[in-house]
Amino acid sequence: MSEAREMIRVEKLNKSFGDLHVLKDIDFTVKESEVVVLIGASGSGKSTLLRCLNYLELKNDGKIIIEGKETDPKRDDLNKVRQKVGMVFQHFNLFPHKTVLENVIEAPTQVKKIKKSQAIEEAKSLLNKVGLADKADDYPSRLSGGQKQRVAIARALAMKPDIMLFDEPTSALDPELVGEVLATMKELAKEGMTMVVVTHEMGFAREVADKVVYMHDGRIVEEGEPNQLFDHPQEQRTQEFLSSIL
Ligand code: ADP
Ligand code: MG
Repeated sequence: MSEAREMIRVEKLNKSFGDLHVLKDIDFTVKESEVVVLIGASGSGKSTLLRCLNYLELKNDGKIIIEGKETDPKRDDLNKVRQKVGMVFQHFNLFPHKTVLENVIEAPTQVKKIKKSQAIEEAKSLLNKVGLADKADDYPSRLSGGQKQRVAIARALAMKPDIMLFDEPTSALDPELVGEVLATMKELAKEGMTMVVVTHEMGFAREVADKVVYMHDGRIVEEGEPNQLFDHPQEQRTQEFLSSIL
């Protein structure tokens, strides 16, 4: 069996905001088609780590290697990296004055300069995939939170990323809407998308994750397969965190 390709390799990543040292010597790898779930208390650095991976934040030092390539923010086009690494946020960030379809074709036509007719065709197929084919001409304000988040997923996929980052994609949703978004993510995972997901949905983590990574105070404390980490955590801090949330 051949080793799966490394999609993300992070070595000794450090990030500070002023005097606040937020990420401390993070080492982290994600292989092709892997689903990695990041867990940890609020303020432990999960969002900052994701944001460093697609250069919404710039690291202070260490290495971030995406598909074998290190990016130099001073010289390289960060839009190129962001095309490879799509991101979905807690608050969907859709354009309110654009329809669902217009939201999905915006980046492909404006950033990638894809022909509008082709972008529309691909957007329709993505909306179909996330179960929203009939909402193409609606404005986001007409949609439920779960529908908005599925549009946000379709919009990220429209750039044909190789990796998808999800930052608490269901945390802003009413409980009855969480399932539809998790189902969409599960489908994506099944198709082989490489994913890094910050979530408090431990059921999803158990079922879908290949690896769960526990962060505390800017460090990775422990990582392992879901059953190992949830049922037999090795570190006391992991045990304490798990008993605080379960
Ligand atoms: P998490 O996502 O695990 O809740 P974050 O990565 O959002 O954690 O935040 C980690 C720490 O960094 C927190 O103390 C937070 O207040 C701080 N932080 C995050 N973003 C910024 C920023 N842009 N400026 C200053 N401090 C920040
Ligand atoms: Mg966060």
